[in-house]
Amino acid sequence: MQLSERHPAGLFPEEIEAFLSEAGEPAYRARQIFTWLHRQAVPSFSEMTNLPRELIEKLEERFQSPWPLELVTSRTSADGTEKYLFALSAGGSIETVLLPEEERDTVCISTQVGCAMNCSFCATGRSGFQRDLSAAEIVSQVLFVQRRLKAEDRQLTNIVYMGMGEPLANYAAVLRSVRLINHPLGMNLGARRITISTCGLAPRIRDLADEDLQVNLAVSLHAATDPERSAIMPIGRVYPLAELLAACDYYTARTHRRISYEYALIDSLNDGPEQAERLGNLLKGRLCHVNLIPINPVGEETRPSAKRIAEFARALERTGIPVSIRRERGTDIEAACGQLRQRTLEGCR
Ligand code: SF4
Repeated sequence: MQLSERHPAGLFPEEIEAFLSEAGEPAYRARQIFTWLHRQAVPSFSEMTNLPRELIEKLEERFQSPWPLELVTSRTSADGTEKYLFALSAGGSIETVLLPEEERDTVCISTQVGCAMNCSFCATGRSGFQRDLSAAEIVSQVLFVQRRLKAEDRQLTNIVYMGMGEPLANYAAVLRSVRLINHPLGMNLGARRITISTCGLAPRIRDLADEDLQVNLAVSLHAATDPERSAIMPIGRVYPLAELLAACDYYTARTHRRISYEYALIDSLNDGPEQAERLGNLLKGRLCHVNLIPINPVGEETRPSAKRIAEFARALERTGIPVSIRRERGTDIEAACGQLRQRTLEGCR
C-alpha cells in the first residue's frame, strides 16, 4: 500500500480494521465506517450515527474529514453539466464533471494533478504534471457527486476515468479505486459501468487485461499513422500504433469487451476524409467503436465545422466501423479537461 493510502476513503474494510486496532477500537467498526463512507457517502464523521463519540473524535482528529478534498468552486452549464473544482488536503487542485442525462448520471473523474503526457490539444497537458492522486482522492470525487445526487433522489450510474491525468500512469491507485467503487459493502457499482481511458500506455493495457475486471477501455488514437499521432501525442513515439493495437487486441481477447477508440477532431489536422478512411482500415476486423470528439479549442487548435465532422463520420462509417459523435456538453463552463482549473489558477473566476 502507498504511504498516501492512509485515508479511510482509500482503504478496504480489513485495512480500516488495522487503523482501528492501533486506536484500540473493535474490528467490527471497520465495516460500519466503510459502509458510511462508500454506501451513504456521508461528508462528515459526525454523521456516522452508530459510532461512539470517542471514535468519531479520533477520526476527526486524525483525518479532519471523510474526503481528502474540498470544493473550491462549481459551475453548472445550460445543458445541466456540472463542473467542480476541488482543493486537495495534500496539495493541488483537480476537476470533476457530472454529466446528467435522462437515463443515467455519469461522473468524469481525475486521476492525477496535471498530466505528464503533454498532448497538444489538452489544457491539462499544458499545465504540466504535479503528482498522482491517491485512491482516496480518486474515490472521494465519486462520493462527493454521489452525495450531491442522493439529495435529489438520484444516483450515479456510470463512472469514466477521463478527467485530468493519464489513469494508467497511476495504475495502482486507479485499480484500487475501481475495486473500492465495486465493493459489495460500498457503492457496489459494476465494473461494466466503469470506463478507464488511456492515451496508449501499451504495457499497462496488457496489465489491465490480466486483472480479471470487466471495465470498459477507451483508447485515445486521434490519428491513424505514427507521424501524425506523435505530432499531437508525444506518447506515440514511445508506443507506436502497432504496439498499441496489439495490446488492445490482447485486452479484447482476454475480456471480450468492445474497445472504444477516441478520436479528437482538430480542424485541418486530422479531420480529412482520407484520414477517416485510413482510420477505418487500421481498425478493420476489430471489436471496436470510434467516438469522434470535436475538440474544445485550446491554444491554436480549433474545432472543424459541423459539415466536416459529418463528412469524416460518413467516410469512417463507409469502412464498416461503428461511429458516434460525442455530444458537446458544458462548453459554456470550460468543460474540457483542465480548463476550469487553468482559469481559476489564472484568477479568471
Ligand atoms: S489528453 Fe489526457 S493524457 Fe493527454 S495530456 Fe490531457 S490529460 Fe494527459
